[in-house]
Amino acid sequence: MSVQPDLHSHTTASDGTLTPAALVRRARAAGIRMLAVTDHDTLEGIAEAEQEAVRAGLILIPGVEISVTWGGRTVHVVGLNINPSACELARGLARLRAFRDWRAEEMGRRLGKAGIADAFVGARALSNGRLISRTHFARFLVQAGVARSEREVFQGYLVSGKPGHVAGEWATLEETVGWILAAGGQAVLAHPARYRLTRSKLLGLIREFAEAGGEALEVVSGSHSPEEVFVMARHAQQAGLLASAGSDYHGPESTYVELGRVPNLPDICAPIWRAASWLPEPQAAVG
Ligand code: AMP
Ligand code: MN
Ligand code: MN
Ligand code: MN
Repeated sequence: MSVQPDLHSHTTASDGTLTPAALVRRARAAGIRMLAVTDHDTLEGIAEAEQEAVRAGLILIPGVEISVTWGGRTVHVVGLNINPSACELARGLARLRAFRDWRAEEMGRRLGKAGIADAFVGARALSNGRLISRTHFARFLVQAGVARSEREVFQGYLVSGKPGHVAGEWATLEETVGWILAAGGQAVLAHPARYRLTRSKLLGLIREFAEAGGEALEVVSGSHSPEEVFVMARHAQQAGLLASAGSDYHGPESTYVELGRVPNLPDICAPIWRAASWLPEPQAAVG
């Protein structure tokens, strides 16, 4: 039995803690034959991951996880099998990173007013000159002794209504899917159970996503409970969408699940790696 593809993972190019090469080696060691690197709003990690994938003999799917503002909320859309040199996608992501730069400074100012000094400088140092995520703020605040865990920092400081929160001004759903399609990729609505939407709102999001040209729902995610997997499998089936699966791995010290350690897609799902001609059959691809 080969391990199911893992189509959602992060590296040091965004808020993961493993370099792209180290991530690929870990995937290989875990028996994963097909891995997508999907960093937040950047394609920086892909070239290194591709080089290491050639050495390690696994199939690397170039990807990205794009931040989207929908109905006043932030949702995430994963682009799979994108061409990393596509202009429109690169331009769109550059715009989102410019917003991230401003947001990080603004978060620093707001946390400063709440009595937490140097958060921007601290988060920036942890990002190693790459993009700055709320995760970097959370790591810094744990190191600074402000809270015991990243989860506590998010709950106390970084989510809506808390002192360090800055509302997202990300891409629209339509432009995001448009960038992915223009880059020759497939759009996947990431971890749909994480948005705390009512059933009717979630169905509205799924409908709009499909109408924009979205292809799949991330039915299996490291952040989904078994019940949520089941519910999302039904939603994918009813919306006529393919299903994707990914751990959303962020590194060995993260509380998320281990790379590839997610349940198999339920039988009612049409896996994106089978249905789409862009992916070679994983069993046949690597000896
Ligand atoms: P950003 O895109 O910079 O707003 O950061 C979003 C990232 O923060 C997500 O991709 C997760 O990695 C992380 N995150 C969000 N919520 C939490 C939470 N409650 N606990 C820990 N990490 C979180
Ligand atoms: Mn993340
Ligand atoms: Mn996400
Ligand atoms: Mn992710």
